[in-house]
Amino acid sequence: MNQGIYRIAVDGPSGAGKSTIAKAIAKELNIEYIDTGAMYRAIGYKVAKHVGSDGEELERFLGSDDLVEFLKDTDIDFVKGHIFLDGEDVESSIRTPEMSMMASKCSAIPAVREKLVDIQRNMGTRKSVIMDGRDIGTNVLKDAEYKIYLTASPEERANRRFKELQEKGDPQPYEEVLRDIKQRDHNDMTRKLNPLRKADDAVEVDSTGMGKEEVIQTILKMINR
Ligand code: C5P
Repeated sequence: MNQGIYRIAVDGPSGAGKSTIAKAIAKELNIEYIDTGAMYRAIGYKVAKHVGSDGEELERFLGSDDLVEFLKDTDIDFVKGHIFLDGEDVESSIRTPEMSMMASKCSAIPAVREKLVDIQRNMGTRKSVIMDGRDIGTNVLKDAEYKIYLTASPEERANRRFKELQEKGDPQPYEEVLRDIKQRDHNDMTRKLNPLRKADDAVEVDSTGMGKEEVIQTILKMINR
């Protein structure tokens, strides 16, 4: 890596607080934050608009060559912390339970991963970044200077997500949130391509029972050491 440039990889299951923590660390260290989950969500959003979010047509499309052409025509970028899909700010449209599931489904498709990993690696060469996702330490930025695996129990993660959705005025029953979290854990950990797992050289931080500030300070200490 160029002198002065460093990369922080943050991986972990859904709802572990990766984006909140990574955003705060980016601000503190004055580096760029890249939310790779948002990129899978944006693809999921575009696919859902094209063929719907479940059913046979979706399955057919995800397994077809049409998807490759569709992806070639897709542009993803970040502007001031918002994700832009084909020039449109889709930041708020992608943060729904439906798009969480769509992202999870699309992320198992090799052509989707190939496209997004390419963009992500590119973003990681230009400046210091903190990037969060599922395969950053194990695949996208294998040689990142710092690797963190942030986790928490499924119940705690479901509880946090439940409150978040409530605050947004988009409530979902707790049992449903927990079921979705477990389903996404299963999808993300068992998919063939770059499943979620802790990189051998990542430091695990289990945030169950920890406050946000405590997690941020724990990670900053690791980085400043
Ligand atoms: O992190 P977030 O919940 O926004 O991610 C949405 C989905 O995108 C995840 O459930 C996962 O399936 C997928 N994803 C991925 N690899 C990444 C980031 C996200 O497969 N690096």
